[in-house]
Amino acid sequence: MKTIIVSNRLPVKMKEKDGEYIPMPSEGGLATGLGSIYRQGDNVWIGWPGTVTAEEHYGQIEEKLKSQNLKPVFLTQEEINNFYEGFSNEVLWPVFHYMSTYARYEQQYWDYYVQVNQKFKAAILEVAEPGDVIWIHDYQLLLLPQMIREEQPDATIGFFQHIPFPSYELFRLIPWRNELLEGMLGADLLGFHTFDDARHFLQATSRLLPVITSSNMITVNDRSVVVETFPMGIDYKKYESLAHMPSVAHQVRNLRERFQLQHIVLTIDRLDYSKGILQRLQAFELLLQLHPEYIEKIGMCMIVVPSRDNVQQYSALRDDIDKLVGNINARYRTMGWAPIHYFYRSFPLEILSALYNLADICLVSPMRDGMNLVSKEYVASRIHHDGVLILSEMAGASKELIDAVIVNPNNIGAIARAIDEAINMPILEQRRRMLPMRQIVEKFNIHHWVKLFMDTLNDVKRNQQSML
Ligand code: UDP
Repeated sequence: MKTIIVSNRLPVKMKEKDGEYIPMPSEGGLATGLGSIYRQGDNVWIGWPGTVTAEEHYGQIEEKLKSQNLKPVFLTQEEINNFYEGFSNEVLWPVFHYMSTYARYEQQYWDYYVQVNQKFKAAILEVAEPGDVIWIHDYQLLLLPQMIREEQPDATIGFFQHIPFPSYELFRLIPWRNELLEGMLGADLLGFHTFDDARHFLQATSRLLPVITSSNMITVNDRSVVVETFPMGIDYKKYESLAHMPSVAHQVRNLRERFQLQHIVLTIDRLDYSKGILQRLQAFELLLQLHPEYIEKIGMCMIVVPSRDNVQQYSALRDDIDKLVGNINARYRTMGWAPIHYFYRSFPLEILSALYNLADICLVSPMRDGMNLVSKEYVASRIHHDGVLILSEMAGASKELIDAVIVNPNNIGAIARAIDEAINMPILEQRRRMLPMRQIVEKFNIHHWVKLFMDTLNDVKRNQQSML
């Protein structure tokens, strides 16, 4: 019996150098958490290797990945354009993040979405044997559970969705809504980050499909499907031990000298309209307007990691950010000081850790976020138990990190007030809030999350079999 992990992307990206393909590991939390599983024995992780290549290279890549228990699903440029950038990122992503006006319901996107899910199915069936456990991840592969179920009715299938599941009123907008739900219901266990996501899924299912729903159980053709919440954690130890490293401490001293500020507000996001970046900038501007005493004392360090900027809405957002940062800096800067330090790039882990350590305030204000790992990474990095996390109530993390200063990301005034509150928060109050948050992030870490999901999936299957 083996475990098969399936996600759109593999935990490595193949890089080409002189006709030779080399797997470069990705640092993501999911890769770390699942590392303990897929590397063992015959277990395998199936996914796209992160590059479009000519067929003649497939064999070489397959061979290289095999020794790492990885199995590639190769995608063509048309499939990337229509399945990934099209249906996944221009239909599911905006609707699931409550930005339905950004959705483009193109029939061709859907056709490719079905086709690519079938491709993943074929890859799974090449290796799946009776008794194997299959764990499918995220919104790019919603049809896959049912596709596998049709071929292997007794398979053990878990599915976890890493982004929000929207309320029924949003979900019903999608032309292919029933097919998506039917696809997901092929799983034995469906996991979401928060109770609200699970509730939205249950409601959409009971309103759209002829199924029987009771509590967190859905009965489909005499088969029961369990819906549960599993808030994803991070590799707490990694962030805590980074914060203790002398090289990181050195970076912190360096940065402190460079910035020469009393207060640093840190924000880190991928470029995305779901992250509330413009509203956050407006709030920071309002703070400077209302509190000129903070001029030359406070600075916002804003990191935006490039993402999907070949899509029109993303490049427009990038332009808007550039403009707003330029305006605020031009208006408020003095000879030796600028309010916003804006970086449109990614940084190595050690620098991120140094920034998490340096910043006395971390501002995380997405309009919607499945979980938001940055907020948890900040908490894990605060080894002196000080610092203030300002967190949007629309992030999944706000359901666990209840001792953060919680804000509505649309309320510019409230964000500005929250920054002011954070600046003036007594150290004892900072610790009173940070300590319980650190305990939560430590306990419900990524390893705990993986184990809980796998244990629950096994229990669900055992219960199903005992009811036969
Ligand atoms: N991150 C990164 N490089 C950077 C900045 C951030 O790898 O330069 C990481 C960050 O540490 C976090 C992830 O990107 O783990 C962002 O995850 P989150 O859940 O906050 O948002 P997502 O991008 O998944 O929507």
